Amino acid sequence: MRYQNDLLQASTTIERKKTSRVTHLIIGLICAILATASYAFFAAKPAPLTSNEIALTISDITTNIEQPIKPLDPINTTFDASVTAPKNITRQSMQSLSTVWQEHKIKHGESLSAIFSTNKLNKADLHKIINANDIGSQFATILPGESLMIGLNITGELSHLTYKKSPYEELKATRREDGSFNVELNQKEVERRISSASVIIHSSLFVDGLNAGLSEQTIMQLADIFAWDIDFALDIRENDQFSILYESLYINNKKIDTGNILAAEFINQGRTTKAIRYKDPTGKASYYSPDGNSMRKAFIRTPIPLARVSSGFNLKRKHPVLNRIRAHKGVDYAASTGTPIKATGNGKISFRGKQHGYGNVVIIQHGQRYSTLYAHMSKFHKRQRVGSHVKQGEIIGYVGKTGLATGSHLHYEFRIDGVHKNPLTVSLIKSEPILKKYKAAFLATSKSLLNQLEEFKSTQLAQKSQ
Ligand SMILES: [Zn+2]
Repeated sequence: MRYQNDLLQASTTIERKKTSRVTHLIIGLICAILATASYAFFAAKPAPLTSNEIALTISDITTNIEQPIKPLDPINTTFDASVTAPKNITRQSMQSLSTVWQEHKIKHGESLSAIFSTNKLNKADLHKIINANDIGSQFATILPGESLMIGLNITGELSHLTYKKSPYEELKATRREDGSFNVELNQKEVERRISSASVIIHSSLFVDGLNAGLSEQTIMQLADIFAWDIDFALDIRENDQFSILYESLYINNKKIDTGNILAAEFINQGRTTKAIRYKDPTGKASYYSPDGNSMRKAFIRTPIPLARVSSGFNLKRKHPVLNRIRAHKGVDYAASTGTPIKATGNGKISFRGKQHGYGNVVIIQHGQRYSTLYAHMSKFHKRQRVGSHVKQGEIIGYVGKTGLATGSHLHYEFRIDGVHKNPLTVSLIKSEPILKKYKAAFLATSKSLLNQLEEFKSTQLAQKSQ
């Protein structure tokens, strides 16, 4: 009887999996365009520029990115020396004098090897550069859209190769007299300043964030920090708001990039959630709630802590009657009817109701990527509904044998990006609270950052009411 049950489970699982894949694709797409379309029904009021930074307009960002990449010093220091001592012109400085530079814009899917072919460069030089030292291999991590500056000497040989890794880092390979290459990573000194922004959402997180002068990178970071608490595709409402303190990176008093968000507050449908970034003395940085709990919520391994596993996860389980492979994409826990079932992680109930052979089912969505399913329940928790936020360990319903179950048990599934994983072995996200030894330092940081955030918000309010 059990087999029939699981046969049905398998087919409904496949059906749902297809749907969930499609849903995931759609959600992914929405996220990719950052949900600009999903709130089109909101009146497109222009969002106020509320950043206390001089507003960095979108065109500024674009110019920043598209600035032509030039080598820091195409003529090397040997040449400078030769200016004062003309008699000592070395072969190398002669080369530098006559270096011809060309820019190569990296295309999608283009490897360094392909770039060497295109520019008729000697592949042996490529090998020498990559293997020059520990840094050499960084040339293999070039990104499409960026540029390589290629310097050729008088004989047409590669003499320099430079790649701007970031606004403040440049990889540089220089041919030595013996034909080998010296590779170095030049880093400019970056000053980190604290910027703040407070944004009321009228259209979407992304659109209003950009209008307030935030970079795409900062908006993505914000969405990532609160991913466990807020579903940015579905939960955002007009007049939701957020305030953040974030790093702005400067070189010689010129803003070149944005860094990390240091503190953030998000008010979503009246619910306030705060996050603080803390870097411990070992250099490990993470986001925590003001009291020191991780913003990334872990899962507990099982929804019924002491229950016995009566049937495991098996993608190749052979059906004893049909003699065919029928996947069992979850774990069965034997437990008597009425045993409480706990949510394995914080999340939002995305489905609650009957589902074919599964009987009474609850599905919880945890952040963007994770979901868990609980089947054959006898009854649901009274005060929850679809859309309810549940905490890890909170009771969501009770064991039963609804649907096609021969005995009372819980069928539990764990999915990442819509793909079923073995709940017993899947590696669960660690979410350690702040370590005891760093707690005092963390609380001091947390208090100071939150005070700054509050201060910023009140000046914003004062400015608006004027
Ligand atoms: Zn099962």
